[in-house]
This record gives sequence, C-alpha cells and structure tokens, in this order.
Amino acid sequence: MESQKQFPQTFSFEFFPPKTEEGVQKLRGVREELARLKPLFFSVTFGAGGSTQQGTFNTVVEIQQSGNAAAPHLSCIGSTKDSIRKILNSYQDNGIKRIVALRGDMPSGMQEAGEFRYANELVEFIRAETGDHFHIEVAAYPEFHPQAKDAQTDLLNFKRKVDAGANSALTQYFYNIDAYIHFVEDCEDAGVNIPIVPGIMPITNYKNLARFSDMCGAEIPRWIRKRLEAYGDDVASLRAFGLDVTTELCHQLLEVGAPGLHFYTMNQTEPTLQIWQALAL
Ligand SMILES: Cc1cc2nc3c(=O)[nH]c(=O)nc-3n(C[C@H](O)[C@H](O)[C@H](O)COP(=O)(O)OP(=O)(O)OC[C@H]3O[C@@H](n4cnc5c(N)ncnc54)[C@H](O)[C@@H]3O)c2cc1C
Repeated sequence: MESQKQFPQTFSFEFFPPKTEEGVQKLRGVREELARLKPLFFSVTFGAGGSTQQGTFNTVVEIQQSGNAAAPHLSCIGSTKDSIRKILNSYQDNGIKRIVALRGDMPSGMQEAGEFRYANELVEFIRAETGDHFHIEVAAYPEFHPQAKDAQTDLLNFKRKVDAGANSALTQYFYNIDAYIHFVEDCEDAGVNIPIVPGIMPITNYKNLARFSDMCGAEIPRWIRKRLEAYGDDVASLRAFGLDVTTELCHQLLEVGAPGLHFYTMNQTEPTLQIWQALAL
C-alpha cells in the first residue's frame, strides 16, 4: 500500500441521471447537501449503449454550472469513434475536465457493433483526440471483473488502461478490505503508479444489493449476507448494521492509506452522509 500514501485523499460522489422531472428536482437537493462536504467531483453514470446520453449530459452540465466539478462516465461499447468524438467535444465546450472512461456492457438484445472493444482503447482515443485536457478515471476491480479470464490477466488489462493514459482509478465496491489491499499491492508490483480510490456502496436494501453484487462480481461476505438476510423487513436494523459495516470499512481503508473514497450515492443523501459523519471527516 506504500505507493498509495503519496497521493492526497480525495472524496467523490456518484449519481445516475434521473429519468423524471421529479428525479431531477430531488437530485438537485441531494447534490446541494453533498456539495457542503466539498467533494473533489461528482460523477454521473452513462447508460450502456448510450441510453442515458442526454440525461448524463444535462446532469453533468447542471453540476458544473453550480460551481462543482463534474465527471461524466462514458462507456464505449457499441459506439463509433465519431459519436464518442462528438460527446468529448460537447464536454470540452462545457468546461468539463474529468471523465470516467469505461467499456460498459451491451444491453441484452443490442448488437455489439462498434469501433471500441475495451476501455483501454477508449482511453487511448481520448488522449489522441483531446491530449491532456481530461483527467481520465478508469474502473478497477479488486475482486476481479466477472468476465476476466483470470486474476493476472485482469490485472494486466487494468494496466493497459493506465499505460494508455489513465490518471486515476475508481474501484468496484467490495466489503472485504483484503481484496483491495492485495489488488493495490499487485498493481504496485506491476508498476502501476496512480491513485486507486475505493468505491463505497452504502447498504440500504439487501435484495437490490444481492442482485447487483451477483451481476457485477462483488462479494458480500457470508457473515454480512446472513445478517442482512435475517433483518427481513426490519429496515431500520438493516441500515444500522449496514452503516456500521461500511463505516468500519471506510475507516480501515483510510487508515491503511487508501487515497480517498468514492461513494455510490444511489442519488440519496442520507446513506452517504451518515457514513461521512460517522467517520468524522
Ligand atoms: C467505478 C465504476 C463506474 C462504472 N460506471 C458505469 C457506467 O456509468 N455505465 C455503465 O454502463 N457501466 C459502468 N460500470 C460498469 C462497467 O461498465 C462494467 O464493469 C463493464 O463490464 C467493464 O467496463 P470496464 O471499463 O471496466 O472494461 P474493461 O477495462 O475494458 O474490462 C472489461 C473486461 O475485458 C477484459 N479486458 C480489458 N481490456 C482487454 C484487452 N485489451 N484485451 C482482452 N481483454 C481485455 C478485462 O479483463 C475485463 O474482464 C462502472 C464500473 C465501475 C467500477
């Protein structure tokens, strides 16, 4: 973990683009409250295959205009170079300086036609088109990407993104700190020298978390899963336990030298704010 300690600890919050006017209003309030915590940036997800392109753009521009730094996610699978170029230009025109570059997943039913196969190709393209304009974030997987051939190949594929010009990484969420520490140490051994900021998923709903974790290859340790299952409809107890677990994880991460935290807010203030307050950040 030594190399991570050279980087300042930064904090960021992730949103998804709301689909309704009510969602837009709600997110505005959430953003205003979380902005008081002075994050380095707010990031906004991008639906696979470009399905939220306009929503991501609108959300990002509103954040930027409110005086906070915004980082749009951009996934490349199924896209042409021309369409990505247009999106990059529109972000540059609106003063956006940071981007989260991803491969993404094809929505079922959509053909995989496109000019990019992997995120490293997108990073390379962004650098070739826009030079050093953007600070490029990429995704990292301490518990490995679900489609990875094996752990070592996944690590080398992560390194390809760094070699292509990524400045820093945000991780998939995890609840086992050893996975993060081992991943970061393997990165150090492989000569990767960028901040790898852990992604934090607050625990508020067991069924959704279990379903999503299965899909994205994040493990909920048995001792946590069993307790969450047992709470059933007792949402208050589930959240209190979830808050304890995630706060302790964040505390330990910062102690061992993680270069900050990236919160998956799910467009809600409370779960993230409660962890923040419990950490006394
Ligand atoms: C912080 C974060 C934010 C995210 N935001 C979004 C979002 O906004 N929208 C969205 O749709 N999804 C998002 N995702 C999910 C992400 O799109 C999926 O996990 C996707 O399956 C992989 O994207 P990637 O950029 O990590 O892909 P890649 O880095 O391209 O890796 C994908 C897989 O291909 C392998 N691989 C990579 N490069 C090569 C290569 N050159 N040759 C052979 N194999 C290779 C890797 O080992 C891995 O198994 C996010 C994930 C994270 C961690």
